[in-house]
Amino acid sequence: MKKRILITGGAGFVGSHLCERLLKEGNEVFCLDNYFTGDKQNVAHLVAHPDFELIRHDITQPYLIEVDEIYNLACPASPPHYQYNAIKTIKTSVLGAINVLGLAKRTRAKVLQASTSEVYGDPAVHPQTEAYWGNVNPIGIRSCYDEGKRCAETLFMDYHRMNQVRIKIIRIFNTYGPRMNPNDGRVVSNFIVQALHNQDITIYGDGSQTRSFQYVDDLIEGMIRLMNTADTVTGPINIGNPGEFTMLELAEKIIRLTASKSKIIYQPLPQDDPKQRCPDISLAKKELDWQPKIPLEEGLLRTIAYFKSLSQ
Ligand code: NAD
Ligand code: UDP
Repeated sequence: MKKRILITGGAGFVGSHLCERLLKEGNEVFCLDNYFTGDKQNVAHLVAHPDFELIRHDITQPYLIEVDEIYNLACPASPPHYQYNAIKTIKTSVLGAINVLGLAKRTRAKVLQASTSEVYGDPAVHPQTEAYWGNVNPIGIRSCYDEGKRCAETLFMDYHRMNQVRIKIIRIFNTYGPRMNPNDGRVVSNFIVQALHNQDITIYGDGSQTRSFQYVDDLIEGMIRLMNTADTVTGPINIGNPGEFTMLELAEKIIRLTASKSKIIYQPLPQDDPKQRCPDISLAKKELDWQPKIPLEEGLLRTIAYFKSLSQ
């Protein structure tokens, strides 16, 4: 059945893939974005589709529309961008959550929150399960993002408990793929852009910190599966690829895959940079019958091809 679906942050990296997939499945898609880190170009190929609508709006302000489902993705995701205007970032998470939850309450829509592995902070438990409450600095430079997302989770659970709003919370681990903003400062886009231009690869710290990278198509599949679960399934559910790599391993892999002449250089580690991150995905396997399918090298090759196409 054709559904009317609102995607906040729909013109961003993840949002644009979600718009594409939900349109392909025959739905009507409303893509709402203020273009802070997103770009109309990411959805330019969808604009002529009769079931696609692009809306310029800032989610810190209420928005009224009749929909069946809401995916709440609006929020800058890369550290330099979310730290650029920290107060705006926390307002986007908190007021944005209140606004989409209010909308879901009025329209009885289901609403999915794009939460993050950052709710675990610099985790003392490894790998991270959903039962772990995290190790988060409330007053650091990453707090506007981490605590904003944690507060959004609280609001989602409280609207569910108090108003029976149908909610889904997904905790997304580092995701990469085509349509990442080449300038947004995240590690995969930085390293690929540097490698393709034979520039120095900038490792922050000694490169021993780890991350687990999932390809965007795997994330989209997990998001849609969670949205389609019974109303009793609220999450939070981790969605990520448990393959764990150090930043040095990632740099070496990207240099090899691009046949680059780049050299690795070391720069200071940003404050509160988590030392390790790896999802326990047992719950996603059980509740969603989901696990990632795209190995890191394959995903990196697809992403490298995208960044190459940008410079042609
Ligand atoms: P992105 O920066 O590409 O996309 C975010 C989108 O939200 C952009 O299009 C931006 O313009 C829009 N936006 C920002 N503030 C807004 C506001 N006030 N009103 C309306 N739109 C606004 O980032 P992404 O990687 O696509 O992330 C999408 C979501 O997934 C974010 O909520 C992010 O926190 C979450 N997430 C992403 C990752 C990842 O690795 N990509 C990991 C964990 C969580
Ligand atoms: N990083 C790096 N060089 C870069 C960009 C990031 O070494 O040019 C490191 C960063 O310090 C962190 C990891 O890569 O340890 C992942 O950073 P990203 O900003 O992509 O995501 P997050 O820290 O939010 O997981």
